[in-house]
Amino acid sequence: MDLLEKIKASGVIGAGGAGFPTHVKLNCKVDYFIINGLECEPLLQSDKYMMRNKSDEIVQAAEEIGKLIGAMHIVIGLKEEYFEEIKALKKSIEKFNSRAELHLSKAFYPAGDEQILVYEVIGKTIPPGGIPLNVGAVVSNSGTVFNVFEAMEDKPVIYKFVTVIGEIDKPSIIKVPIGTSVREVLKKCGGATIKDYDLIMGGPMMGKKISKGEAESRVITKTDGAIIVIPKNHYLVEREKVTIEHMKNQAKAACIQCHFCTEMCPRNLIGHPLNPHKIMRNIALDEMNDMTIKEALICCECGVCELYACPMGLSPKRINVYLKGKLREKGIRWENKTDKFTAEVLREYRKIPTERLVVRLQLNKYKRQRLLENEEINPIEVRIPLRQGIGADTNPIVNVGDIVEKGQVIGIVEEGKMGANVHASISGVVSEINSDISIKAT
Ligand code: SF4
Ligand code: SF4
Repeated sequence: MDLLEKIKASGVIGAGGAGFPTHVKLNCKVDYFIINGLECEPLLQSDKYMMRNKSDEIVQAAEEIGKLIGAMHIVIGLKEEYFEEIKALKKSIEKFNSRAELHLSKAFYPAGDEQILVYEVIGKTIPPGGIPLNVGAVVSNSGTVFNVFEAMEDKPVIYKFVTVIGEIDKPSIIKVPIGTSVREVLKKCGGATIKDYDLIMGGPMMGKKISKGEAESRVITKTDGAIIVIPKNHYLVEREKVTIEHMKNQAKAACIQCHFCTEMCPRNLIGHPLNPHKIMRNIALDEMNDMTIKEALICCECGVCELYACPMGLSPKRINVYLKGKLREKGIRWENKTDKFTAEVLREYRKIPTERLVVRLQLNKYKRQRLLENEEINPIEVRIPLRQGIGADTNPIVNVGDIVEKGQVIGIVEEGKMGANVHASISGVVSEINSDISIKAT
């Protein structure tokens, strides 16, 4: 089997984003292979953990990926404040005589957005709606690259390292078999320290907020990297409750057209024609100017405009999410009118320091929590979704009652379709099959 086939067989998908199948992404030839170790969302530490503890694996896999895609440059992006991780990676680069270089960045948000990272590393703007391939680059996060190393050794993706932080008894980075319930993970970390809480699956800016009740049915998938436990009345939870009608009324009543949302918009700063203040003006005046409203399609939903920039507490991001839905319903897509995109000259001064963002998000209380490491959970039951990222569902190749071994393939992606195989993350008996495969340990 060649490397692409091994990656496909092991079910590797992007570990830090939407879960794009890695064997599809790496089937290309480019100049740059960039490893994203920036994890710019506040409080998250799983990628940092990987770079500190799995640097040998990451560097070896990076070399192989570099050869596969013909990359002249292999660049690992991480923050300049990651002293231990820099030391570990430098040691591994030397040990394996790797040509990988480190790109050190200040701690700003969203340094880990792949469009921003590509701009920082190679100085080119990916066109709106485009992907790094458009400027000769491929970006994978450090967790994905580690999984490629495992695939090189014929080991499938069956666990994740998850940051559990916030109102939790034992904040940890914990190794979790795919399909373990979120409830079990919280229990293993000593449980929540407060009675009324909600959870953020992922980072506080872009992660999905779920209730304590929803956590009962939610399981860890290949794309999960963090669980943040926050009080039910936390600012971030309260903001999510505002309805779209209320947001529109707020825009009418309170948008002062200060432009701060546009001036700080990371996509606008790399030259994309995205002007959230104009979208808000259109909404406020009920003027649905097609060209302006269409700009919502190129919003990456980073949340800077509403959680950091807007002095009036308005919600340009959520307005954009709403508009995107409406535009897609009508089949309207973004089309670039030019291929020239020039970054804002003041961009450097408009970057948002992560430290300041943490305070703005009212999360500074959790910033200095020391996380337990090397924790592991051994669940007695897992529920493995047949689809965990972009693409089609996999087809189950086991039946209820079958005995399966940890690491055994249990769902395969149909030939010619995009998707990723799934594997048993524990040994046991298949107890149920629907959109997930449930396995009970024996
Ligand atoms: S920052 Fe807020 S008040 Fe200012 S233009 Fe944008 S939405 Fe309006
Ligand atoms: S969420 Fe706001 S700041 Fe972020 S890309 Fe969209 S418009 Fe720009």
